[in-house]
Amino acid sequence: MPDLFTFDNSYARDLADFCVRWPPAAASRPTLRFLNRELARELGADPAALASEDGVAALVGNRVPQGAEPVAQAYAGHQFGGFSPQLGDGRALLLGEVIDRAGRRRDIAFKGSGRTPFSRGGDGKCALGPALREALIGEAMHALGIPTTRAVAVVATGDPVRRERALPGAVLTRVAASHVRVGTFEFLAQHFGEVAVRRLADYVIARHGGPRESSGQPYRDLLQAVAERQAELVARWLGVGFIHGVMNTDNMTISGETIDYGPCAFLEAYDPAAVFSSIDHQGRYAYGRQAAIAQWNLARFAETLLPLLDAEQERAVAIATDIIAAFPDRHAAAWLDVFRAKLGIDERGDAADDRRLIEDFLALLQAGKNDFTLAFRALYELATGSTPDLIAGEARFTAWLARWQARQPQRPPGLLAAMRTANPLYIARNHQVEAALDAAVDGNDFAPFERLREVVRAPFDARPAAAAYATPAPAAFSDSYRTF
Ligand code: AMP
Ligand code: MG
Ligand code: MG
Repeated sequence: MPDLFTFDNSYARDLADFCVRWPPAAASRPTLRFLNRELARELGADPAALASEDGVAALVGNRVPQGAEPVAQAYAGHQFGGFSPQLGDGRALLLGEVIDRAGRRRDIAFKGSGRTPFSRGGDGKCALGPALREALIGEAMHALGIPTTRAVAVVATGDPVRRERALPGAVLTRVAASHVRVGTFEFLAQHFGEVAVRRLADYVIARHGGPRESSGQPYRDLLQAVAERQAELVARWLGVGFIHGVMNTDNMTISGETIDYGPCAFLEAYDPAAVFSSIDHQGRYAYGRQAAIAQWNLARFAETLLPLLDAEQERAVAIATDIIAAFPDRHAAAWLDVFRAKLGIDERGDAADDRRLIEDFLALLQAGKNDFTLAFRALYELATGSTPDLIAGEARFTAWLARWQARQPQRPPGLLAAMRTANPLYIARNHQVEAALDAAVDGNDFAPFERLREVVRAPFDARPAAAAYATPAPAAFSDSYRTF
């Protein structure tokens, strides 16, 4: 029997000089607060073993399971546009990797496991509330079909974390296709140069594969693959009203998974300028800017690859520029796919006409401050023959609805099924998330958190008992909502 996981640690083995061996800190009174049994099984682990005393001791860092080789990974990053040459895992450790039941290599990493050589001024800790938020939003995103890192466990440490006030601490165990970020490349390019960047590039090519069509040039293909993944990822975010909140280059993965659920939020009233993060004063990472930011981040990634793209600088720049310049069109195509599915319209229509149809609907939502999620769900309900009050009952939608109807008079079952899974009824609404975290952290009552978790795990299935979760926040809440 393996000790929780069957580890196979390629990063610590092959890229040992890009990370630092480092032990997790001890915790005084570990309590398991979140366990993702389904994900545990996917990883080849026994949920009961993870929940046992020995399992929880390992998941909080009090013992290192057999086969794990905890390392802090080095990375840099552009944060809000400015370059930080050395960030790294300041409160995280990569425990190791497993090959999951589907044959995919997955990282198993701690967050909140204490100081590391990269902690700078930080305490290396994570508070229970943000750990639960990350676990919850990761599950919600996964259920929405969006590539994401996920939490397999959250263990409260029993030790306080000092923020504005003392908060209960926790260790989150994060599962990722890998933790390699744009910032990982930036770190190597800045401090070690071409040979090191090439080693990391070869590693991620082997681990994450290439673009849809290969050019026969591996590093060009790598840039292209990352461009494709990010163009699609951001389109998927936009399709569910997700605002990441802090799209720094150290929070952009090479794998194309969403990572680092900090000041993120879901839109309610549709507004492309929506931003909730307390530190994003300029609206740099607003809902509608996310594609442009992904492109900017991609350019930072491309810069690290220049020496690999071509021996001649001019040619390398031309290769990179081509791919970066094509990003908006690539994203627009992915966006069109996502929103065509939301409207339940097939791919035979003229792209420009369809784009206009979608944008006109969004403009109506913006003007009416309509709830993004419920408005699209109402379209799905209309398509199934029911008549929701929203939209159908509002005269200002009449003309648009007629155009929509004319564009796709009939929907074969496949199109309707795709429309359903493009239009969730339940998202992790900000006021519900806050209420659930408050009850858990301040009241030690985890029932609201578990209920919300059950709701967002099945976002497309209407359940009368869950009606309260499909309701927007009271205006007073939304107007002042800030994430941290
Ligand atoms: P983030 O904004 O969460 O992406 O974090 C940016 C950087 O700050 C990363 O290098 C983190 O590891 C580091 N960091 C964040 N919080 C802490 C903390 N409490 N202690 C040490 N490092 C931290
Ligand atoms: Mg981060
Ligand atoms: Mg963070």
